[in-house]
Amino acid sequence: MSRNGLTRKEFLKSLALGAGSIFCPFPAVAFWGKKERPWKSIKGKVFKGDGPKRPWKWSKEGLYYASNGRDVQCQVCPNRCYLEPGDRSICRSKVNIGGKLYSLAYGNPCAVHVDPIEKKPLFHFYPTTSIFSIAAAGCNFRCLNCQNWEISQKRPEDVRSVELFPEQVVRAALGARVNSIAYTYSEAVTYYEYMFDTAKEAHSKGVRNVLVSNGFINKRPLKELCQYIDGANINLKSFDDRIYQCLNGGRLQPVLETLKTLHANGVWLEITTLVVPTYVDDPEMIKEMCRWIVKELGQHYPLHLLRFFPRYKLTRLPPTPIKTLEQLRQVALKEGLHHVYLGNVPGHEASHTYCPKCGKLIIKRAGYFVEALGMEAGRCSFCGSAISGRWG
Ligand SMILES: [Zn+2]
Repeated sequence: MSRNGLTRKEFLKSLALGAGSIFCPFPAVAFWGKKERPWKSIKGKVFKGDGPKRPWKWSKEGLYYASNGRDVQCQVCPNRCYLEPGDRSICRSKVNIGGKLYSLAYGNPCAVHVDPIEKKPLFHFYPTTSIFSIAAAGCNFRCLNCQNWEISQKRPEDVRSVELFPEQVVRAALGARVNSIAYTYSEAVTYYEYMFDTAKEAHSKGVRNVLVSNGFINKRPLKELCQYIDGANINLKSFDDRIYQCLNGGRLQPVLETLKTLHANGVWLEITTLVVPTYVDDPEMIKEMCRWIVKELGQHYPLHLLRFFPRYKLTRLPPTPIKTLEQLRQVALKEGLHHVYLGNVPGHEASHTYCPKCGKLIIKRAGYFVEALGMEAGRCSFCGSAISGRWG
C-alpha cells in the first residue's frame, strides 16, 4: 500500500503502468476461430457513486491500494479499479470512502458450510476429510455461466450474511472438528483482507487453508497470501484470452501467473476447467493448455474437466456431451498429465484415481464416498510408486 500527497494528475500518471490492464486491446467486435462469431469483452465496470457514505460494521481498510488522498486504486486484482469518492469496485465489495479503500466483506460471510474436501474439488489433498467453507458476496468476473451468481453478482449489503470475524471462523471450524478452511463459492480474491486475516489466524492454530478461486489476482498480494495457503483449486476457464474476455470478463495471463506463483510457493494445486460447449471444447486448445501445464507446473497436478449444465445467462447451450469430455480427457492424458478427472458425471470411471505408472485402480470414488483400494502411505500398493498429493 502506498499513499502520498500526489495531485490527481500526478497520481494518474504514476498509475500509468498498472492501468494498462484496464483497457481492452482488442476491438469490441472481432472474429473468433473458424466460424465467424462476433464477440465482445464483458468485463465489469466500476459502479459510480454506488458506495455507502460511511464505513459499516463489516468494513476494513484495504490491504493493497494506492491513494492520492481523494481517489484510490485497488491493487488486489488485475482489474485495478480506479475509484473516486463514493465509487464501488467491479467486484462490488470495495468502496472509496473519504479517500480510503474499504472492503465491505470483512467478517461478513454469506455462506458457511462444512463440505467434503472432494467437493472443492480436491482429490489429492487429505481425501475424505471435511472442510469448513466460507464465502462473502462479490466477484471480479462476470461469467455468463456462473453457478453462484446469487452471491457472486451481489453487493455485500444485499445478501443475507452472518457475523463471523477471523478468530470466530477458526473457532467454529475447530468446534466442528474440522482441520481446514476453504475460501470458496463466490470469489475469494474479492474478500482478500478477510481471507488473509482468517488464513493467518488459522495457521497459528494449526488449521490448513484452501483457496478456491478464478486465480485473477495480482502477484504481490498472492505471494503474501501463499504463506498461509496449503492447497488451491484454480479455475482455468479456458486457454484463450479472447474467450476469457467474452465468456468471463477476465484475462488469461494473470491466471497463468497465479498458477506459476502457487506452484513456486509449494502450494498443492488442482486445476478445474469447465467444458462449456462451443467455448471451451476445442481439443486443440485443451492440448495447448495441457502442454503449458506440463511445461510450467509439471505432470503431477490433477486436472478436473467438468461437465457444463445450462445456467444463468447460458441456458441456450446444451450440457457437455459425455463423449466430448472423454475425448478431451484422452487429449490431456496424451499430453502427459498423470491425473485427469471428469466431474459432474456421476459413476464415470474417470472419477477414480489410477496409478500413473502401472495403471491400476488405486482410489475409487462414488459421489463423495472415497475408498482407497490400492494405496498406502501415499504409494501405489501394486507397484510402489509415489502418488503425488498431500495424503496426511
Ligand atoms: Zn502402481
